[in-house]
Amino acid sequence: MRTRMFAAMLGALAWSLVPLEAAAQCGQGAIGTSRQIEIDTTGGPRFGQVQYPGNDILRPGEVVLTFDDGPHKQLTPTILSILDQHCAKATFFMVGQRAMGYSDLVREVARRGHTVATHTWSHKNLKALSADAAAAEIELGISAIQKSLGAPAAPFFRFPYLSDPAHAQAHLRSRNTAMFSIDVDSHDFRTRSPTVVMRNVMKQLNAKGRGIILFHDIQPSTAGALGALLTDMKAAGYSVVHLVPRRPQVTLADFDRRVGTPSRGVVAAGLAVPQRSIVAPAWEQRVAVSQTGPSAIQANRIAPVPSAAAAPAPPPVERPARVNQGDDWRSNVFRGW
Ligand SMILES: [Zn+2]
Repeated sequence: MRTRMFAAMLGALAWSLVPLEAAAQCGQGAIGTSRQIEIDTTGGPRFGQVQYPGNDILRPGEVVLTFDDGPHKQLTPTILSILDQHCAKATFFMVGQRAMGYSDLVREVARRGHTVATHTWSHKNLKALSADAAAAEIELGISAIQKSLGAPAAPFFRFPYLSDPAHAQAHLRSRNTAMFSIDVDSHDFRTRSPTVVMRNVMKQLNAKGRGIILFHDIQPSTAGALGALLTDMKAAGYSVVHLVPRRPQVTLADFDRRVGTPSRGVVAAGLAVPQRSIVAPAWEQRVAVSQTGPSAIQANRIAPVPSAAAAPAPPPVERPARVNQGDDWRSNVFRGW
């Protein structure tokens, strides 16, 4: 009995030391993480006022940092160090195909205490797919993250392009997976300028007073803006909250088998994401142009997803940055998300 009590005291001591140690490592003026919100994903709740008004889990002044479309070999580590300096915890909605290529980065994101969530296998617009094909895109993404991470993902999902057909929503509800839209859009894919990203975020935040913020950890403009932006947010009185799941995501055995084994070749073969970036970095475009085609999926020994051939052709990669300004995301023309 006495031994058990001693062990419990030691446990409590270790627990209390964790935040102190973390606090000591924060940079000066760090925004920190003010609280965790544990999300019960039973029944597939939806969050983010842009598409799902009414279910606001944030208090005034609170923000949630989210990063989509990674991991990215250079930019994800940069973003992780900035978050560390600020002791700020975030959620990463990763593309399965990229996660399989950069499994070391997937594990690193989790190791630093962030939430690892899913964003499909290859970033297809699910509205262009049949219900079965969309479900397969979602499930391959979930299995890929688990395979890369060596542990379950959070049952948190974001739709590519925020395109959320009813059949895919029904599937996610049946899988007890929460759907996350956004409140604030950094529009980081439209600009190379960190200043523009900072202005976009602060303007929307000041109008709404709180929100789930969308960034992309494949965008240099976000990597350039994040440190100063967190400093500005702290100065303006905002605080960062961290979303964590009550229960882990469960994978389906069939998709675990189909998703294969993590390797660098998987990400080089796919790169569906940069194809749609209006201002994708030049090196991403080169790879995207040279590596597209059905061989991408075959290279990973994944059977083609039913109806996947009906996916829309990639849009032109270089366009004037503001050409789609004002387009509705539901139009499927907007390629930003
Ligand atoms: Zn995306």
